[in-house]
Amino acid sequence: MKTRTPTNRKRKDSKEMNDMQPSTNGTLSLRDVVKTYEMGADTVHALRGVSLDIEKNEYVAVMGPSGSGKSTLMHLIGCLDVPTSGTYSLEGRMVAEMSESQLADIRNRKIGFVFQTFNLIPRADIFHNVELPLVYGGVRRAERRERTLAAIERVGLADRMKHKPNELSGGQRQRVAIARALVFNPSIILADEPTGNLDSKTGDEIMDVLDELHGAGQTIVLVTHEEYIAKHAGREIRLLDGSIERDVRTR
Ligand code: ADP
Ligand code: MG
Repeated sequence: MKTRTPTNRKRKDSKEMNDMQPSTNGTLSLRDVVKTYEMGADTVHALRGVSLDIEKNEYVAVMGPSGSGKSTLMHLIGCLDVPTSGTYSLEGRMVAEMSESQLADIRNRKIGFVFQTFNLIPRADIFHNVELPLVYGGVRRAERRERTLAAIERVGLADRMKHKPNELSGGQRQRVAIARALVFNPSIILADEPTGNLDSKTGDEIMDVLDELHGAGQTIVLVTHEEYIAKHAGREIRLLDGSIERDVRTR
């Protein structure tokens, strides 16, 4: 890639970077993050010392072969799991110092998750699927309704509100999942292979939605195997065997 590479620039002073306090103005900051899993007698090195900063309104594609640590990285960023060592700060606050209830609140309000498999509740209609984080968050009914309708409208599904997930296409289901992720205006949207179960045309529709959200100021981190999906992002991070192999701005 012919573009300016922050990786190369960073590498020169990576020692210095690692000694620095996490930046307080970035959305998130990882320093020397290691994640190992003990599997009986074996140790799996899922992440081997990852440092990165993601600023507000960045649009990042995380790529790399299967098993390279992409989902592990997303889980850590999403506060679904904790690093074995290293530090993580989100909006200037150290995640390791947060209580369980603060973490639950962050997972619900600050992070919007979108998964390959949509993860909708089959028996609930679209409105209730999107409303759910607000219910967990203790938001009152009138505000819940307002926020839920706004999120559903943003993904263009206002006419499908009363439908159940199985009455929708795959692309529409993923749009519901995006609406659910948006309902609290999260600091960051984490999408782990959001187009992985969709054909390329439907995948493009989902990427149109993500592009629009990014245009409106949303920070997005997206895992994908597909180059044409990654091209939507403005930065590409490649993982290889638990390490960052490349981190380049592509726009
Ligand atoms: P990717 O998403 O890039 O395919 P993962 O982050 O899922 O990679 O996995 C990275 C490595 O960590 C793999 O070797 C995987 O088998 C291992 N791993 C992931 N999650 C667990 C877990 N919960 N327990 C044990 N090993 C795991
Ligand atoms: Mg994965």
